[in-house]
Amino acid sequence: MALKPPSDASLTRVRKLVDVYCRKTGTTTHPEKEVTELVVLGLARHIDELGKPLCPCRFYPDKKEEVRHRTWICPCDDMQIYKYCHCLLFVNENGQPVTEHLPEDHEGRGIYGLVRDSTPDRGRPLRDQAEEREKERKERPS
Ligand code: SF4
Repeated sequence: MALKPPSDASLTRVRKLVDVYCRKTGTTTHPEKEVTELVVLGLARHIDELGKPLCPCRFYPDKKEEVRHRTWICPCDDMQIYKYCHCLLFVNENGQPVTEHLPEDHEGRGIYGLVRDSTPDRGRPLRDQAEEREKERKERPS
């Protein structure tokens, strides 16, 4: 069965978020437009369902409970702390997510290796919260 399309209002909100956040962080959307579109649709559906753009690329036992933690509300903690986007929504010009700022044992380093941040002076407004994020990542994997 096909998924219900999201509302125009939620789609507009997500497209604006993506546009603004790319400019703020010096990242870009994926060179394959279908990749971006799938994530945008997922985020917009979550706004319709939950009132928040919960990351669509992860599994949650309880989505409403997950929203309360805020960790995976887009732009998520990993994006705001490390400039790393699991969903490939915010990437470099080659379609790779920035992994330079991730802890070395993070899954992103394992998958993509070291991907440098070409605009290190932009983005990462929560960079000072890496220690708390690492604690959460180990104690509450999600
Ligand atoms: S990984 Fe983070 S930044 Fe990327 S789409 Fe999901 S919530 Fe947004």
